Amino acid sequence: MALIVAKFGGTSVADIERIERAADKVAREVEAGHKVVVVVSAMSGVTNTLVGYCSDISPMHDLREYDTVVSSGEQITAGLMAMALQKRGVSARSWLGWQIPILTDNIHGKARIENIDTEELHKRLDSGEVAVVPGFQGVTEHNRVATLGRGGSDTSAVGLAAALKADRCDIYTDVSGVYTADPRIVPAAKKIHKISYEEMLELASLGSKVLQTRSVEMGAKNGVPIQVLSSFEEDVGSARKGTLVTTEDQIMEQELVSGIAHNSDEAKITVVGVEDVPGVAARLFDPLAKASVNVDMIVQNIATDGRTDMTFTVPRGELDLAVKTLKDDTGLSYSDIVVNDNLAKISVVGIGMKSHAGVANTMFRTLAEKNINIHVISTSEIKISVLIEADYTELAVRSLHAAYGLDES
Ligand code: ADP
Ligand code: ASP
Ligand code: MG
Repeated sequence: MALIVAKFGGTSVADIERIERAADKVAREVEAGHKVVVVVSAMSGVTNTLVGYCSDISPMHDLREYDTVVSSGEQITAGLMAMALQKRGVSARSWLGWQIPILTDNIHGKARIENIDTEELHKRLDSGEVAVVPGFQGVTEHNRVATLGRGGSDTSAVGLAAALKADRCDIYTDVSGVYTADPRIVPAAKKIHKISYEEMLELASLGSKVLQTRSVEMGAKNGVPIQVLSSFEEDVGSARKGTLVTTEDQIMEQELVSGIAHNSDEAKITVVGVEDVPGVAARLFDPLAKASVNVDMIVQNIATDGRTDMTFTVPRGELDLAVKTLKDDTGLSYSDIVVNDNLAKISVVGIGMKSHAGVANTMFRTLAEKNINIHVISTSEIKISVLIEADYTELAVRSLHAAYGLDES
C-alpha cells in the first residue's frame, strides 16, 4: 500500500467526460489499497480565459486580485472531481489552498510554497478518504489567495507529495511521459523511461513545459519520485509505465544527450555604446532584477573607444518592462537600445556532456548545414543553448534531434 499524489493537468480534466475518466483511475488506485491525494488543474483553456479577463479590465491590474480571479478555475475542477469520486463510492472531500493551508510567500502571481500543514490530510487519508486539492493555489500569511505561476499545479502536487512524504507523485498529462523533444514538434521523439532531476530541471527551465521547473526543484530537494504519464491510456500510475524522474544513480544507461528543449518566447535586447568601466553591468542589471525581469543569456562585446555593447535576453512578455526600466532607472549613458522579439532558444541537454567533448561542435555544424544563424550561445556543465530566429525553431529542433541520434528508429 502506497501513498500517492495524482495530479491531472488541464487537458486531462477538460470536460465532464475526462473528469469521469480521471476519477476512474483514482478509484482503481483506491481499490488497490492505496491512499490517494488528487491535485487538479483548471479545465484546459480556463486559466487563459481568466488571465484575459484581468488584462481586459486593466493591463496593470493588482496582482492580489489577479490571484483571486485566476485561482478560481481549479476550485471548479476540485469540487467536480470530489463529486465524481463520490459517485463511484469513493469517500472524497475537496480542500482549497486556504483550507489545508498551503502557505506561500507574498509574491502574488508567482508565489512559492513555504509550508503545507499535513495533519488533517493525514487523518483523512488514514480514515480512507481521498483528498482533492485544487492545484496552482495557496494562501499567504496575510490570508490572501496566491497562485504559483503558470503550470503551477505540478508544483502543488510535488509540494504535497514532499510534505506528506508520499511514495510517488504521478503527473497525468496529455503525453505518455517525458520525451527526447516535444513530441508535438518532433514526431520521431522517443519516450525517456528514467531521467535525472538534474536533466529534467534543465529541460523544464529551458522550455519543456511538461513539468513546471519549480516542481522538479522541489522533487529533487525532497527526493520525491515523480512519474509523468498519460491520462488517456489505460494504465494507472501504479503500473509504472510513464517516465520516472529520479536521482542520477538510479539510471543505468546514461545517454550523451538526453533531450532537446526549445523556448519560442525569447526577446533580445542590445544596449549599444555603454561605457566600458567597472560597475556598468551592475548598474544595468540591478534595476532589471528589482523590476522582476528575468534576464537570461548575457553577452558583452569587446570594447572599442571605451564603449561596448551589452546584449541579453528576457521573456517576450517582459520586453516592454525591461526597455522601460533601462530607459528610466539605470541612469546609464548609451547610444541606442535595439530589440529583436522574434527569437527562440534551442538547448541540448545531457549529463553525458560532463565527460564528453564534441557536443557543441555537432550543434554548431548541424545548424550551419541548415543555414541557421546563431545570435547568442550559452553553456553550462550539462547543456548548450543557442538563440536563433523563431521561424527556424522546428527545423532546428528536428535536425538536432536527428544529429544526436535521438530519432526513433
Ligand atoms: P498539463 O495541462 O497536463 O499540465 P502541459 O501542456 O503543461 O500539460 O504539458 C504537456 C505538454 O508538454 C505536452 O503536450 C507537450 O507538447 C509539451 N512538451 C514539451 N516538451 C516536452 C517533452 N520533452 N516531453 C513531453 N512533453 C513535452
Ligand atoms: N491552471 C494553471 C495554468 O494553466 C495551473 C496549471 O494548470 O498547472 O497555468
Ligand atoms: Mg502543465
